[in-house]
Amino acid sequence: MFKKITVFVCLFIWGVNSAVYAQDLRALARVDNDNSTIADLSYREMQVELELSQPIPYRIFTLTKPNRIVFDFKEIDWAGFSSEKTLKTEKVKSLRFGAYQAGWSRMVIELTEPMILDEVEMRTDPDQGNARMVAKFKLSNQDEFNTRSGIREEAGWDLPKPIDVITPKQRQVGDAPLVVVLDPGHGGIDSGARSGGKLEKDLVLQFARELKESLILTGRYKAHMTRDKDEFVSLPARITRARAVGADLFISLHADALKSGWATGTTVYSLSDEASDEASKDLAENQNRADLLAGVDLTQQSDAVATTLMELASVETQSRSDLLADMVVSGVAQSIGRLRKRPHLQAGFTVLKAPDIPSILVELGFMSNERDLINLQNQEWRTKVIEGIILALDTWSVEDAAQGQLLRQ
Ligand SMILES: [Zn+2]
Repeated sequence: MFKKITVFVCLFIWGVNSAVYAQDLRALARVDNDNSTIADLSYREMQVELELSQPIPYRIFTLTKPNRIVFDFKEIDWAGFSSEKTLKTEKVKSLRFGAYQAGWSRMVIELTEPMILDEVEMRTDPDQGNARMVAKFKLSNQDEFNTRSGIREEAGWDLPKPIDVITPKQRQVGDAPLVVVLDPGHGGIDSGARSGGKLEKDLVLQFARELKESLILTGRYKAHMTRDKDEFVSLPARITRARAVGADLFISLHADALKSGWATGTTVYSLSDEASDEASKDLAENQNRADLLAGVDLTQQSDAVATTLMELASVETQSRSDLLADMVVSGVAQSIGRLRKRPHLQAGFTVLKAPDIPSILVELGFMSNERDLINLQNQEWRTKVIEGIILALDTWSVEDAAQGQLLRQ
């Protein structure tokens, strides 16, 4: 379905999306008290187990005077939950729980002796969708407890090693230059598509360098690249590099070749769980295979807790990415005149899976198409596309910041 999406129309679409999003947030997680306990594991250890109807973000910290453990959760429906049913230990003096502030719930465990967090995980049942949180605490002394206690607002997800939790990036609210991370696809042993003696990895690197320059020249953006030379960078490493520089958004740049002959023109992808059409799927499979070729195992990327947080962050990020994709489509369409039939598609690219960073993948053109290949090597054409992308970022950043401010209130 071809839509000449103007910025005005995009704003309208965003309004609809945000209503849907707000509704999703209001679906509260419920606690199943029959399967939730706070009990001794041993003389020195206590375990808090909570069975929830869905995974939710949480943080755990301790406070002194009196010694207590605090769990903050994204809002929970506590109906049916009681201290009598839950408490099975002498190490707890009292248990309180309830709403804490808009959208958040708190559970406070007052301790009879100082205990510190030893391990925690939230596991999601892939079939049922419910989640089980297990947090283990061990006895400590008052000095250690004091040292470790206090709310660290910045370390919002205050969990101990070895579980390495990704701290979701604070979304931009327009108070600082936007940090754009450009991700030229492929590199090193992975050349990407090849056609007419040209390699995709080289064409996209050149484009990324030019886009980076132009972004910096505006004075409104900071720009970084996941690679600035001909090197192989695994897909997860690209996301890690983006996170390391505090990316506000992530733009992967490609110019793949497709088996089918019809593919031509610039196309913008955002993430979806299921590829929106066969071509997207084909492309996504090719993208993801690049890593397997280099022997990188993509399956060991995250533990249960990190995954839970990632899934949650990506609900919000998904709609931000979709808006960005729509705006890049309309920006580029304005600057070069026309785009292919369905210029915004969704696909399951690994590289777009940074949960907290809005991410899109731009197929600048398809090297399998003769005209696209000529365009990609044409300075004037590239400049126009770059202008279109910057126009889109200008519009998106304002809209996204406004939305971010609303969510903060
Ligand atoms: Zn590619």
